[in-house]
Amino acid sequence: MISKTNLLGMTLAQLQQLCAAEDMPKYTAKQMCDWLYAKRVDSVDAMTNLSLKARSRLNEIAYIGRHAPVQCQVSTDGTKKYLFEIEDEDREMHVSSPNSDNSQFKRYVEAVYIPDGDRATLCISCQVGCRMGCRFCVTGQQGFHGNLTAADILNQIFSIPEFTTLTNVVYMGMGEPMDNLDSVLGSTEVLTADWGLGWSPKRITVSSVGIIPGLRRFLKESQCHLAVSLHNPFAQERLAIMPMQKAYPIAEVVALLKQYDWSGQRRVSFEYTMFAGLNDDLRHATELVSMLKGLYCRVNLIRFHASPDTPYRTASSQAMNQFRDYLNAHGITCTIRASRGEDIMAACGLLAGQACQ
Ligand code: SF4
Repeated sequence: MISKTNLLGMTLAQLQQLCAAEDMPKYTAKQMCDWLYAKRVDSVDAMTNLSLKARSRLNEIAYIGRHAPVQCQVSTDGTKKYLFEIEDEDREMHVSSPNSDNSQFKRYVEAVYIPDGDRATLCISCQVGCRMGCRFCVTGQQGFHGNLTAADILNQIFSIPEFTTLTNVVYMGMGEPMDNLDSVLGSTEVLTADWGLGWSPKRITVSSVGIIPGLRRFLKESQCHLAVSLHNPFAQERLAIMPMQKAYPIAEVVALLKQYDWSGQRRVSFEYTMFAGLNDDLRHATELVSMLKGLYCRVNLIRFHASPDTPYRTASSQAMNQFRDYLNAHGITCTIRASRGEDIMAACGLLAGQACQ
């Protein structure tokens, strides 16, 4: 069985290569970008300014991997959680067997749409599950079940009904972006290139627990904002909730970030999920101020959403307010991030990629 090429997610250069290989004019690649990204068509036949011969050949060798979410849950606060099925790489092989039960090969990821006044943010996933194993995170407890392609990532953005209302995209859903950087950078290139959506990189934030080799490459090749999951400034305490602290200590991550200039357009922020009795007191606030001294950044405090199986507890509003005020008083811009979509398990750390029954 010959596998077809997914055109969604391909860059202008990749499409030019495809055109050259298929003996099509070079300008066809630019036309295809226009149909794929500006007009967001979902079939080759819709590319009506391509010759009939080109469309016919493209239909033989390629397809546009757009598919709608299989489920949408709506929160009382207007947040929407979309569930997307991810194609198994061996799916065609399984489908070709008439007696096979394909349900066992299905994998899902979630994207969360968060409207907020005149802003609308989409939080997207980059992996099925995650191998970082953060102890407080539902996704992390599921283990790793595969990387998304750039097309899988873009499909989450392109295929929601609210696409045209989006002002921002954050890579903070399931998975660690620096652990699937080729696909993440491929998708951000489509979002920001003039042959793609032409978005400013300021509309995009990519998160990380701090995988140092990935961060170096990301900072070199992308202008998008960066959000680092910090959660505890003390090495041993952080290690107890984030296993990647062992390979990439947060002190080394912050030291790396201090080598870059953050006074321009690009921002670095630190995510700090607050747990009662673990990281929410003055000792932690003092150490955090000391650690971030000299780095132009902001800190976002996140209310922890306790799931049934976790030993961790939500910090009190009083502790969070005091923590925020201490950081602000000591020169670090700090805000408490509003909690959204908790009733549909769409809030930070709760994405499980599972369909509702
Ligand atoms: Fe992975 Fe992020 Fe969950 Fe950590 S918090 S396990 S990096 S999805």
